[in-house]
Amino acid sequence: MHLRLMEEKILSEGQILPGGILKVGSFLNQQIDTAFLRAMGQEIARLYAGCGVTKILTIEASGIAIAAAAAMELGVPMLFAKKHKTSNVDGSVYSTVVHSFTHGTDYTVVVSRDYLRPEDTVLLVDDFLANGAALCGLVDLCRQAGAAVAGAAIAIEKAFQGGGDALRAAGVRVESLAVIESMEDGTVAFRR
Ligand code: 5GP
Repeated sequence: MHLRLMEEKILSEGQILPGGILKVGSFLNQQIDTAFLRAMGQEIARLYAGCGVTKILTIEASGIAIAAAAAMELGVPMLFAKKHKTSNVDGSVYSTVVHSFTHGTDYTVVVSRDYLRPEDTVLLVDDFLANGAALCGLVDLCRQAGAAVAGAAIAIEKAFQGGGDALRAAGVRVESLAVIESMEDGTVAFRR
């Protein structure tokens, strides 16, 4: 499902940076267009209505706003995995290692065992989907908790990096509000 307004905002406000990075600081990653954020939350809730979602899970920091908007619409709690500088882990958290596409480094994310439960049906939400490392990390946290994964909802998927299609092939439902097929020569082309 594609949100037409997302495509329009990417075309009018997005900036393509070297290395296949799209900057959307004017409406999503630094300044947030709140009316548009509400529309994103409503669309994600529409896509996953009736799927038995009990909790939304994202990674700090850039997924939090979208995840909260979707959680408000679905009427469920929003949980975010926290980034830890070290991999020191005590028994009270689930943890997984994620390779950061934008920073080129590995980081550990943790979530409290108290908040992710075997009886949960989890919707994963993030701002971008590129190689899929962040989403795979969230799937791993759910697996450790014994929670079910309803699927993922992503604001902007960069299909040319393959993460979304790999997850779909692995049986994960992935819904992206805009899917970028290519960003060559300063031109954004969408998959429709
Ligand atoms: P992946 O783990 O799928 O390779 O990358 C997804 C994560 O990297 C997202 O959580 C997002 O924060 C960041 N990211 C990946 N590509 C981009 C991009 O083009 N622009 C921005 N702003 N963030 C990105």
